[in-house]
Amino acid sequence: MLNNIFSKNFQFTTRYFNEKLEAIKEGKAKFPQSVIFEGSDIYGELFFALELARILNCEKDGSEFCNCTNCNWIKTFTHPAITIVTPIDFKDMDSGSKTVISTKQCQAIGEKLLETSDYHRVFIFLNADKEPLTENEERQAAEFKNLGYELPEEWKPSHINHKIFQDQASNVILKSVEEPPKNTTFFFLTKNREDIIQTIVSRSQIFSLPSGAKNQDYSFVADLFANYPNFTLDDAFDISEKLLAEIKNEKYSALDLILMIEEYLTTLIKNNLANPAFVQSAMIDLNHAQIAEKMLSSKVQPKMAFNWLLTEFVKNF
Ligand SMILES: [Zn+2]
Repeated sequence: MLNNIFSKNFQFTTRYFNEKLEAIKEGKAKFPQSVIFEGSDIYGELFFALELARILNCEKDGSEFCNCTNCNWIKTFTHPAITIVTPIDFKDMDSGSKTVISTKQCQAIGEKLLETSDYHRVFIFLNADKEPLTENEERQAAEFKNLGYELPEEWKPSHINHKIFQDQASNVILKSVEEPPKNTTFFFLTKNREDIIQTIVSRSQIFSLPSGAKNQDYSFVADLFANYPNFTLDDAFDISEKLLAEIKNEKYSALDLILMIEEYLTTLIKNNLANPAFVQSAMIDLNHAQIAEKMLSSKVQPKMAFNWLLTEFVKNF
C-alpha cells in the first residue's frame, strides 16, 4: 500500500496502483512496463515512482517503514536495479555533455537489460541540475520527508522535456520501452505528455498528478473568463489559445488549468445561488469541464480538449 500522502494528493492514481500492487501480489496482474506521470509537482512524481519501485522490490510486505536491504538501498539512491536517468546521473559511460540525456546513456540501458536480474528493474527519466534547492523547493520536497528518503546533495530535480531528452536518444530507448524483459518498468516524469516524443507516449500508460490546483489561486482563469458567460466563438478560440500558451510556457499543466476552471465555476455557482437560470447553465459548464478533465486523462491532446470545452461554453449560454 502506498503512503497516505499519495492518496491525499493523487487520489485516483493512488487507488489504481494500490489495486494493481494487490493484484500483482496475488499473481493476477503485471506492472505496466512504461508509465508517464504528468503534472507540475516534480517531487510528487519522483517519490511516487520511487515508492512504487520500492514496494515492487521489498523483501517483506512493502510497508513504508520497512528497512530491508532493498528498501534501504532505494531510500539512499544506491539500489543496483533502480536507475535514475538524467543529464547528470547514470553518466559514467559518457563524459560528454551534462545538458542532455544522451544516446550513449540509452544504449547503456539497452545493454543493462540484456543481463538477467532478480529485481524489478526501474528506470526513472527526469531532468536534474547540480545545484542546491531553493527555499520553495525545499518546502515541496519536505512534504514527502516522512517517507525517509535521502535525496542526493546539490541535486535539483525537474521535469523532462524535448530539450534534454531529444528525439535521437528517445528513439534508442523506444524498443526497450516497447518490449522490455519481464519485471522492468520505465517512468517518465513530465509536466505534460507533449514533452516527450509521441512514440513513447503511445506505448505508455499516462497518469495525471494534479498539484493541488483546486486550492490554488485561479485568478488567471478568472481574468480570461471576465466576459463569462457571454462568449463569442472568437472569444472561445482566443481563450483556448491563451490557455495553451500557458502550457507551452510550462507555467501550468493542462490539468491544472482545467481544475482552475472548475474551481472558478464552482465559486461562481456558489455566489449566484439567487439566480437559478444562471446556476443551471453554469452547472452544465462545470460538467463539461469535468468531461474535459477526463479527456486529458485519456489520450486526448490538450488543444482538442480546450477547444471542445470552450465551444461548449459558447453553445450553452
Ligand atoms: Zn522492504
